[in-house]
Order: sequence, then C-alpha cells, then structure tokens
Amino acid sequence: MKKYVVLILFAAIAGTQVNAQIKALGDKKPAKSPCTTLVGDEMLPGMADTTTGRSVSDNYKTWENGAVLLVKFMNNTGSPAIRERITRYAKEWEKFANIKLNFVPDNTPTTNIRIRLGSRRDKLGHNSAVGIDNDQRAQARQTMNLDTSDFLDHDFFLNDLKTGGPFYKFLVAKGKDMKSYTYPQFYNDVIDFPSPLPRFAEKVAKGTTMHEFGHALGLLHEQSYPGAIKWNKDTVYKYYEQYDWDKAKTDFNVLEISEQFFTNGTAYDPKSIMHYSIPAWQTVDGYSVDENYEMSDGDKKIIAAIYPKDKKISALAVPKVTVSNFVKLEVKKDDVKKALIITPYFNVRTGAKLANAYYVARLTTEDGQYYIATKSLKFNWGGFSGTYLKMNLLPNTKKTYNKLAKKDLQLVLPYKEIPELAGKNFRVEFTVYQNDVATGKLDRFVTYSLSSPLSLVR
Ligand SMILES: [Zn+2]
Repeated sequence: MKKYVVLILFAAIAGTQVNAQIKALGDKKPAKSPCTTLVGDEMLPGMADTTTGRSVSDNYKTWENGAVLLVKFMNNTGSPAIRERITRYAKEWEKFANIKLNFVPDNTPTTNIRIRLGSRRDKLGHNSAVGIDNDQRAQARQTMNLDTSDFLDHDFFLNDLKTGGPFYKFLVAKGKDMKSYTYPQFYNDVIDFPSPLPRFAEKVAKGTTMHEFGHALGLLHEQSYPGAIKWNKDTVYKYYEQYDWDKAKTDFNVLEISEQFFTNGTAYDPKSIMHYSIPAWQTVDGYSVDENYEMSDGDKKIIAAIYPKDKKISALAVPKVTVSNFVKLEVKKDDVKKALIITPYFNVRTGAKLANAYYVARLTTEDGQYYIATKSLKFNWGGFSGTYLKMNLLPNTKKTYNKLAKKDLQLVLPYKEIPELAGKNFRVEFTVYQNDVATGKLDRFVTYSLSSPLSLVR
C-alpha cells in the first residue's frame, strides 16, 4: 500500500515539473522549409542555362514518354521506414503518368534520380533537379534533397515531452537542461531520438515527396502561372531572408512568372501539389493559398498529358536537343588550310520530334567577356566573328561526335575571315542553340564551352 502512495506522488511531481519546463519552449514553432528547387541551377561545369521561360511544366525538360527512371537513395541515408514511405509516395505519380520509377539498391552505379535524405542540421532543405536536368548531374551527387526533419510528427514528440514520455526521459538521460529548453533544441534533439516506432507526419512526408518528384518529372512551381499571384514583393523578400535567400534567389524561386506557352493551356490551379503555400500578407490583394498535401485533379491531368498511357508521343512534346558528356573543345591552327579547325567532342540526343540545332563557334576576347565584331558576311553570327552549322536532327537520335579518328563534326574558320586583332589573344566559344517553340526565337541555349587562349600571327 505504502509503495503505491510513493509512486503516485512521484508521478504527480514529475508531471508538474514537465509542464513547468515546457513553458520554457516558448510558443514559436519554425515553419517547414520551403522548396528550393532551382530551374537549370546546375549544369555541367562551365555550362549555363539562359532559358528565359520558366514554366508550370517545362516541356523541354520532360523525359521521353514511357521512360523507366532508375531511382536510388544515397548511401546510408534514411531509415527503412522513411525510405518505404518516400518510395510509396513517389510512386503516386506512376498512377497517372506513363513513367516508371524503379527504386534500385544504393550501390547501383548509374541512376537517373538520387535522393539524399538529410535533416534540419545540414540545411539542404527540399529540392530536386528538373526533369532531364537530372541526367546532367554527376553520379556521385544527389539530384534530390529531402529534409526528413519535416517528415517527423513533431506534435507527437511535443505531447510526449508534456506527458514525460520516452522522448522526455531520453532528453533527461542525456543531461539536457529542461528548464531552459527551447524549440531549436527540440527540433535538433528529435533527430537523434532512436524512436522504436516511426512517428511521421504522413501528410507532410507524402506532400513533400510528391512535390519534389513532380519537379523530377519536369513540373515547376504552380505559383509561377502568369498573372496568378499579385505579390507584395517587399514582404516576400523579407520573409525569405530567414532562409538566407537574397532577392535574386527569391525572385527565381518564388516570384518568377513563366511563359504562357508552358501552361499547356491549363487553368491556374491553386490546389496543385506544385504550389507553394502563400499567406495573405505576401500578396497585395490578400489572396492566400493553403499548404497542399495531395495531387490535384489538375496535376493528374497535366502529368497524364505529358506522359500519356494511351499514346506513344505526348501532344505536348516539343523538339528537344540534349547535349551530354561534353568532353572537350579542341581548336587547332591549320597553317596549310589557313584556317582554325574547331572540333567539339560531345553527345547529342533528340526527343520524339524532329529538331533543329545550331552549332555555333564565335570568337571572344581573351577574358571570354566580349564577342569580336566582324564585317565578314559569311563568317559571322549576329555580327560577331564566327561560323556555324545548322543541323536537322531526326527524332529519337543519339549521336557521339568525333568518337572515331575520322572527325565527323568540325567547324572551319578561315584566317582571312578573322578580324585584325593586333596580336591580341582570343578564344573560341562553342554553343549549341535550338529554336524555342515558346518564343519562336532562337534562344534555347543548350550548351556552352570556351577554348584556351589562342593567338594568330599573319
Ligand atoms: Zn518546389
């Protein structure tokens, strides 16, 4: 009998202590990290993407219809429980898209999508390469970051703290000073708690996974739909300062408006899984959008149109030129032919449509900053000294240029067509362009490479 009394008393004291300590947490909970997907943020070293049209789906970045994508988790990241969820939630897209996401073992050497599971500590947040940009990343690097701290059910752990449960005992055992315990500490400690049962915020895990895999399949942020959001720019800039985003980054991720073309004729869809949540104070007219955790009907329709299950080629497919494995740009002076011989080594691939590409070599100043003007009528590109080849590339073509000893792609620039440079060094810049269906202009910049400095004595 006496034993019982003691136990009850102890429990009562422990209870009051816990409640008192919880107050030290304060009442400010940090929000879920925003998605930091950048479009064309990272191509091969020395390559840039100057594409102007960001879009609701970037048709230039979509995979071929029916593609089987190999997906893996990066070595040693994530528990089996979290991996199982991400796999299941990612595969939601397969229900509507003619795409297979094949999850393969961590040690698979070549994959299309590589997921690194991190936490609030490494601050990599949530982001993904967009569509076929995934294939531009080195195999050693992830193409997607997911911050699994956001996937934990923090309310469960807070409640555990308040009731003196296993998490509370874990903290006490670690010698934590519970009198001054704060939310940042809480969010940090929860990562280390070896929970015997997974306690996930399923809807956040599902919504975030589907959003990032939406990017991996070529979808972009829905809030970029032309005219959809009347942003209060100054308050938005201020808000994203807490994530150390400068104006340019906020412009790019949040405020950028896509080309009308890339909306693919769809209506603006505030329920899209690809839409950021927007509080009313970020807009000038008080418009707001709640966090979306499920695919909308619009999402299902657009992904089914991009990757149709009932036909071979999507009606939304655009001509697509993809350059990969750009090994080198060789420029040789041929004093017999009296010309610069420009030899690029790379792979080119097209999609389901016939595509035109322009392979352009231009002269630049030694620092690579300026093109060199020319009066030559034949050897110029937009008034600058250079030469080019227009290529008609058949659908579904894969080609490796200059693989064999006999060269199959060379550009020739005769010495006499090169402006007088007064002995100054110059470089050769090689670029691949394709026509942009969205703008009708030749502004789709596919790849870029710059030679070492050269000089010409005549
Ligand atoms: Zn995103």
